[in-house]
Amino acid sequence: MPFERRIMKRLSILGSTGSIGRQTLELVRRFPETLQVTALTAKSNVDLLEQQTREFRPGLVCIYDENKAEELRERLSDLPVTVVTGMEGLLECATAADATMTVVALVGMIGVRPTVAAIEAGKEIALANKETLVTAGHIIVPLLKKHGVSLYPIDSEHSAIFQALQTVPGERSAFFGGNPYVKRILLTASGGPFRGCTKEQMRSFTCEDALKHPNWSMGKKITIDSATMVNKGLEMMEARWLFGLKPSQIQVVIHPQSVLHSAVEFVDGAVVGQMGTPDMRLPIEYAILYPERAPQIASQLDLFAVRELSFFPPDTDNFPALALAMEVLRRDAEYGQQTGSTLPVVYNAANEWAVARFLQGIGAFTDIADAIADAVSAHTVTVAPTLAEVLAAEQWTVDFLAGR
Ligand code: NDP
Ligand code: MG
Repeated sequence: MPFERRIMKRLSILGSTGSIGRQTLELVRRFPETLQVTALTAKSNVDLLEQQTREFRPGLVCIYDENKAEELRERLSDLPVTVVTGMEGLLECATAADATMTVVALVGMIGVRPTVAAIEAGKEIALANKETLVTAGHIIVPLLKKHGVSLYPIDSEHSAIFQALQTVPGERSAFFGGNPYVKRILLTASGGPFRGCTKEQMRSFTCEDALKHPNWSMGKKITIDSATMVNKGLEMMEARWLFGLKPSQIQVVIHPQSVLHSAVEFVDGAVVGQMGTPDMRLPIEYAILYPERAPQIASQLDLFAVRELSFFPPDTDNFPALALAMEVLRRDAEYGQQTGSTLPVVYNAANEWAVARFLQGIGAFTDIADAIADAVSAHTVTVAPTLAEVLAAEQWTVDFLAGR
């Protein structure tokens, strides 16, 4: 039997109505003897949250949008479930007493406070929400150590690196301090829908163009981030915290087929990577069931059908937001490898602001990179920011961009 888990995991799934949240529930549906749901949350999708609550019977659900809470309470009045709302509700779900693991599948740095609260409550963390590590990695990593909590990455590249790192001796469930055997990581990227395009061409691309990702089906925000390559920039910052890497140890590699999900180059010259079909169900499974593997999670990789794999350096001239992410990462690490600063917060918050507008049909595609660059260059940096200072830097960014 390849899959023999006997211990029940009880999950609190933050962002259960999203792309990662729904695929997490698919896993629960397949393994009801191993996985149970304690809490579910959505921002405003009452219909799906009601449906999920009826199917998975959590004791606690949160609808973030306070205007929708009463409607959800009425709809679920026949069930023994408590409906909560707002940030307080999200925090309640993140720390739900019966949960053993909190799956953070929220989009955006709204995930920071719930993740911090879940760690403080001693919950294991399965983290899809990269914005949290990007903006508060310097707070999260020491907190994990302090509370002896393990965090498992869901982001596919980071899952691939995590899987490759299982080949090294020592502590396997967390690598936050770095690993002496690692020379560098090769962080792969499909290049998104606009790979090979020039900045001039991209000026006229629409939201619909940007939402057509060649290999992955994901939520809208991350799909736009893949088109601008901001996603890869955020993933470099995420990898820095997850694996204790210096910026010079992170090499972005464009790999259009999305078959090699990332790799680790070790000091002896060995390169160990993880391959597979592009299917988020696999990294979700690995994060939740670690160190076990369940049968038939992703569709089988047919190398004969793939035939060829290709690799290119990233095009930082035509994707300025990626070039800026590299600079932000470098400057941030110069303040102190472990200290962090508000620079990544501003980079991320400006992107969230600009992408939300682009998705509403406001502005051009290239305005996203411009907004990030404007905010980063106008910002006065705070080194080693507290959680309050991280959230204040987010607010500063929004105010700055709105007032431009
Ligand atoms: P989606 O947009 O599909 O889902 C986001 C979820 O969070 C939904 O449940 C949504 O509720 C909820 N939500 C959104 N905004 C808020 C808010 N302000 N307050 C409370 N809840 C909120 O996102 P994805 O699933 O695509 O992405 C989730 C995270 O995982 C992101 O950080 C992304 O970068 C990362 N990731 C995603 C991948 C993917 O394949 N999708 C791959 C790798 C990483 P509602 O439905 O009501 O709006
Ligand atoms: Mg990824």
